[in-house]
Amino acid sequence: MRYYLLLLFTLIAPIARPQKGDSVMVRMIYDEVLANGQCYDRLRELCKGIGHRLAGSAQAERAIDWGRDAMIKSGFDTVYLQPVEVPRWIRGQSESAAYTTAGRRIDLPVAALGGSVGTSGELSARVIEARSLEELAQLGESRIRGKIVFLNKAMDPLLINTGAAYGGAYDIRSRGASEAARFGAVGCIIRSLTLAEDRYPHTGAMQYSEDVQRIPAAALSSVDARELSIALQADSSLVFHLNLHCEEFPRTIQYNVIGELRGSLFPDEYITVGGHLDSWDIGEGAHDDGCGIVQSMEVLRALRALGYRPRHTLRCVFFINEEFGNDGGETYAREAREKGEIHIAAIESDGGGFTPRGFSMQGTDYQYEWLRRLDSLLDPYHIHQFRRGWSGVDIAPLKDDRVALFGLLVDNQRYFDYHHSNNDVFEQVNRRELELGSAAMAALVYLIDRSGIPAQP
Ligand SMILES: [Zn+2]
Repeated sequence: MRYYLLLLFTLIAPIARPQKGDSVMVRMIYDEVLANGQCYDRLRELCKGIGHRLAGSAQAERAIDWGRDAMIKSGFDTVYLQPVEVPRWIRGQSESAAYTTAGRRIDLPVAALGGSVGTSGELSARVIEARSLEELAQLGESRIRGKIVFLNKAMDPLLINTGAAYGGAYDIRSRGASEAARFGAVGCIIRSLTLAEDRYPHTGAMQYSEDVQRIPAAALSSVDARELSIALQADSSLVFHLNLHCEEFPRTIQYNVIGELRGSLFPDEYITVGGHLDSWDIGEGAHDDGCGIVQSMEVLRALRALGYRPRHTLRCVFFINEEFGNDGGETYAREAREKGEIHIAAIESDGGGFTPRGFSMQGTDYQYEWLRRLDSLLDPYHIHQFRRGWSGVDIAPLKDDRVALFGLLVDNQRYFDYHHSNNDVFEQVNRRELELGSAAMAALVYLIDRSGIPAQP
């Protein structure tokens, strides 16, 4: 019965604006995802069967195979792999940190930052603390040379948007080691980028400047950073010990995983939905970004299960290596341009599998007005936030004058508690929140497919 209703709506509805029948279809999408959703089970497979999967690693290879099989099982028309050149960096078998003060050695958990060099044996040195890169520069070479720089900058808890708080502290992780090395530091430790008070260190990408010595860099948990700071006030000559066994290898080939449902009217025009398949090499990459992966796959699965025949070709893309260079996103966009593929829209979920709130978008004024008109249609599902703003790292390279780029907005208050740490595991994901995000994305994909979301009237 529902199937025929649906057919009727898709036959009679013109291509432009949200229609009365759309509310029925959106309800059906939510029903399908909430009653028969597979994304939570897929996430369990990915997190518990494979676990973390840094680009270039053997686990990432397994995740690519898993992704292709899962898309085939979901019944997509076409499933294929797109080669992508990715870096290969390993943390090494072990890593450790400690400090000695008043004759006592105090061990603390540590995580090398992604891309760091190793310490070639134990690195032991005195510590100089700075609360920001500006403060570091003011300390100057005479106080820094020969020491380990401790960048103890917290994410701003007063910012309601935790992404902005992350952005505000990001520089200590990305540039801290090289800025410290400029003044003769021998190592760099940072306070983890998190709002949680716990003992999980959080890793993440760092970059070395070409013009300075590469020194090892690692993160301490928020609690250990606070305790080290207190210990330094009591004993400014305490000695810190760092053991990292990181290594870098030549770049290698891995793959974006791509699945499609062919469009019935405009098969050469694409609506892409995706997330990144790689994760950092600790934890299970559950919120970042296993959730985005399984939600994207669920979008196509649910629409297909409802018997919906898309007008445009719907693509699900599992991008490889968002975390350490965005090679998957760059390669996907470059090849799309080379092949003359027209992307009318792309949607990314990479903010964690939390309760969805709405969508941010990069596009024209006309496309933004189109998005805002969805408010009443999506109100019953508590989807209220429609703002202009960042979409997602993987899809950003698709930006041009035509495409509308969307990011799923979620309640991100807890995201950085888990992000890039051993605490980002399957158990931290709530099934219902995950499914609601998937349903919201599927509804948006359906509405875009119906309207074509033109750039101009
Ligand atoms: Zn991510």
